[in-house]
Amino acid sequence: MKISSVDIFILKTPLAEPFAFSQGWVHRRSATLVKVTSDTGLTGWGEAFTQGLEPPEIAAAVIEHALKPRLIGENALDTSVLWHKLYHTTRDYGRKGSVIAAISAIDIALWDLAGHHYQKPVYQLLGGAFRNQVQPYATGFYRLTGKNESARLAEEAIRHRDNGFTAMKIKLGFGVKDDIEVMEKISATIDTQAIELMIDTNHAYGYREALQLGRALEAYNLRWYEEPVVPEDLTSYRKLRDNLDVPIAGGENEHTPFGYQALFSAGAVDIAQPDVGSCGGITAARDIIAMAHANGVAVNPHVWGSAIAQAASLQLLATIPVTHHSLFPQQPLLEFDCSSHPFRNQLITHPLKLENGMVTIPDGNGLGISVVEDTIEQYRCN
Ligand code: CA
Repeated sequence: MKISSVDIFILKTPLAEPFAFSQGWVHRRSATLVKVTSDTGLTGWGEAFTQGLEPPEIAAAVIEHALKPRLIGENALDTSVLWHKLYHTTRDYGRKGSVIAAISAIDIALWDLAGHHYQKPVYQLLGGAFRNQVQPYATGFYRLTGKNESARLAEEAIRHRDNGFTAMKIKLGFGVKDDIEVMEKISATIDTQAIELMIDTNHAYGYREALQLGRALEAYNLRWYEEPVVPEDLTSYRKLRDNLDVPIAGGENEHTPFGYQALFSAGAVDIAQPDVGSCGGITAARDIIAMAHANGVAVNPHVWGSAIAQAASLQLLATIPVTHHSLFPQQPLLEFDCSSHPFRNQLITHPLKLENGMVTIPDGNGLGISVVEDTIEQYRCN
């Protein structure tokens, strides 16, 4: 089965209400999608993760100019061979960021295609599902004005709870004092015995402030403390791990097994968070999961993309072994972003759904989704 075409779609839509995380204001949602077609008439969909401040055109240009010419005519089922080919031929200008997100999009599409060819879900091709349902946690708590929003954020916590979430991640990094105020208000509003909380500062602080915040929040029994410092500063990651009881999480801005090697050998994290749309796709995520397992690190994938990235993440979540085995081990969670995403829910026929507090992992072929191409045309910019 040969690759006959690679089509790239840049999607953008402005947000009616811009929101902030600690690194800036998000004014629009965007996505870089890719459709790979085989000479047997099958198609596979992939997505390059585009974070809130990232122009989707970068990964699209990499796919068009650097990857596509190396893919046409190749065996579409050679997922591992093609990953290495794409990585090695872009190494000198790639290795991180949007170049690896571009490779991720192609890799996800090839796995989807392989699933359609073999008529199996991707998780089956990867060795089977440890679980067919996953507990989601709500990601939200973005800012609409900046500071002093604790009352509104506490109301948001009630909304997530009423929608069936039993875990939620609070966006912090707006100044330690403001962060503490937000956490006090939220934990006074909801029952933190029933709702598990985690925090994410998106690397807003240096070591001292990160430590100060971690210590101030120790009483809340947080499930994890995400991106406390910049991803380059592995020494501070390690020091925070040594000096705080809360598990330290990170990795959404790290890429490929090569990047994760540095994270693991520094002893930087308790929880690794590869994003399937930017860590190098399913092939790289599979290898990162094995490395994490061997290093005693748990894996909780980062997920913020469109419905295609969510679907790829669900397939991956099925295949993650628990790192610390017991009768009742801690299972990986699905990051369920609750921020505004106008085209996410219209992009596939059966979007992500919470039922009795859980999300079911699709068992159809490939990623188990049907893409609505009319929606793509509606938001397409290229
Ligand atoms: Ca994050």
